[in-house]
Amino acid sequence: EAVLELRSIARHYREGEARLDILMDINLSIYPGETVALLAPSGAGKSTLLHIAGLLERQDGGEVLIANAPTSRMSDAERTRLRRATVGFIYQFHHLLPEFSALENVALPQMINGLSGNEARLRAQQLLDYLRLGPRASHRPSELSGGEQQRVAIARAVANAPHLLLADEPTGNLDPRTAEHVFGTLLALARSTGLAALIATHNLELAKQMDRRVTLRDGRVELLS
Ligand code: ADP
Ligand code: ADP
Repeated sequence: EAVLELRSIARHYREGEARLDILMDINLSIYPGETVALLAPSGAGKSTLLHIAGLLERQDGGEVLIANAPTSRMSDAERTRLRRATVGFIYQFHHLLPEFSALENVALPQMINGLSGNEARLRAQQLLDYLRLGPRASHRPSELSGGEQQRVAIARAVANAPHLLLADEPTGNLDPRTAEHVFGTLLALARSTGLAALIATHNLELAKQMDRRVTLRDGRVELLS
């Protein structure tokens, strides 16, 4: 069963009189444990696609199915609930809360999802240990290296055990060695937990390590070799 299915997704924006058709007919399914690279030039619609797939933005046509459940007729509240339970996001910039420790940054989304503070902190510590950040748990983001910050962002994204991970240029801000390390962590996590990942990246070398590579052309998904 697909974790995510995008069926004939269309999205346009208006710029004054002009109509920009960004996504025309997007069809894509992603299965448990599968990692898919989204490689396309700036402006092609990658962020728009990720936002629609993650129920952050509504499409103009077509259907987004999460674990076979159609989402377009859901209310905003239902979509938010489903997103919190099933989807994790990672961005180019980590967006960690600067006043909180690494541990607290990872624990907070779990507490928002209803876990007690103790349970959330325990699981956050386990995740940070798994990502080899255990000794850094009490540090604030500004006290961590770029690679460490991004690994904390990964821990936060998967803290609620999502089925789907959506990442927008997760290593775009890192030097090549650190990018390789962070990316390796992401792929290992996806393969060991059955998490499905759709990762927008400009890095062809990293994309080659993933199960499938796709691009966007004229608002459609094309498979790359
Ligand atoms: P990418 O992530 O591939 O760079 P985006 O999805 O961010 O592409 O943007 C695709 C196109 O849609 C760009 O031309 C962008 O300027 C335009 N766009 C994105 N969001 C909006 C918006 N809210 N209103 C109008 N145009 C937008
Ligand atoms: P990474 O393994 O993520 O590539 P680096 O090699 O960049 O880490 O950093 C080596 C060590 O220096 C790390 O353990 C990191 O925590 C520490 N460090 C890097 N930048 C800072 C900083 N601004 N403040 C405190 N410690 C830092």
